[in-house]
Amino acid sequence: MAKRDYYEILGVTKSASESEIKKAYRQMALKFHPDKNPDDKAAEEKFKEAAEAYEVLSNPDKKSRYDQYGHAGMGGAGNGGYGGGGMNMDDIFSQFGDIFGGGGNPFESFFGGGGGRGRSRTVNRGSNLRIKVKLTLEEVLKGAEKKIKVNKAISCNTCGGSGAQAGSSSFSTCGTCKGAGQVKRVTSSFLGQMQTITTCPTCNGDGQTIVNKCKACSGSGTQQSEEVISIQIPAGVAEGMQLNVQGKGNAAERGGIPGDLLVIIEEVEHPQLVRDGDHLIHDLYISFIDATLGTSVEIPTLEGKAKIKVEPGTQGGKVLRLKGKGFPSINSHYKGDLLVHINVWTPQQLSSEEKKTLEKLRESENFKPNPGKGDKSFFERMKEYFN
Ligand SMILES: [Zn+2]
Ligand SMILES: [Zn+2]
Repeated sequence: MAKRDYYEILGVTKSASESEIKKAYRQMALKFHPDKNPDDKAAEEKFKEAAEAYEVLSNPDKKSRYDQYGHAGMGGAGNGGYGGGGMNMDDIFSQFGDIFGGGGNPFESFFGGGGGRGRSRTVNRGSNLRIKVKLTLEEVLKGAEKKIKVNKAISCNTCGGSGAQAGSSSFSTCGTCKGAGQVKRVTSSFLGQMQTITTCPTCNGDGQTIVNKCKACSGSGTQQSEEVISIQIPAGVAEGMQLNVQGKGNAAERGGIPGDLLVIIEEVEHPQLVRDGDHLIHDLYISFIDATLGTSVEIPTLEGKAKIKVEPGTQGGKVLRLKGKGFPSINSHYKGDLLVHINVWTPQQLSSEEKKTLEKLRESENFKPNPGKGDKSFFERMKEYFN
């Protein structure tokens, strides 16, 4: 599915000001907020879509990249089956801080909490891990399984991630929030008194505190460790794409949800083939004698060598197309081609004998350029190339 335009999603024009964008997002977020639309998947998608659009358009850097390159400039893997590269709900709620002026979830502060879904406890979330993976074009063609060693936070082996020392009475109810994980704060504003509910600063929302901390992890529930992670990379990825492997990032403190592993693709240059989207380009050089008399040459492909025939009378600049010898498209069944760009080599050094032979041919009518006779013009060839 193609991604919608971010401006369209928020219903603003490209020239909209920062505050107009913010206002538009605020309206969208309130309209499609999950607390207002319980169990409505379509609303949730709209909510996420708006958050993603706002995330980009509210950031001058990202906005200018998006204005220039569109979605391609955002470095997302599109719909590669790795979670879509979108935002998760926690990211979105944490973004609300600057939109709704503190308090996190607007419905908790506007309506005094009890917003339906009972987000009473904040779940710890591990941070994302970002790694680069180098792939040859051959690996891009077939897809690849890469085993990568990463240094990351894992669940503590000693306490199993709880952060507490093994044994009895390791936890006690948090004294600050009485186990609720949240504290209420009453603030005064020009609207009158407002009740805000925030995560308890003492227990970070856990509702309990650790009496005897695990000695191995000092109560964090995590430890650093090297881990070999196996990553399946689908065929057809490209330089700069980001794959999102859910749950393979850093472990969260005290048994929360682990972060994601973000895999950024880097292409290793091929010595003879250049990638152009799903197509491959090979620059072939032949002598003007081969171009004149015709020949058969071997060219490299990503699946070994292939033989192609060069017809007698071939002009330099001609492009031969080997259908389906390019890359599989990541979003469709379409496959790219291998385009062989023929260059006719003009000799730069000649013996006096060779010179004499060529001098003899110089005045022959057949050697005089006669374009338009059987040969396609440059523009016709470009047309052919692009369809
Ligand atoms: Zn521990
Ligand atoms: Zn607490």
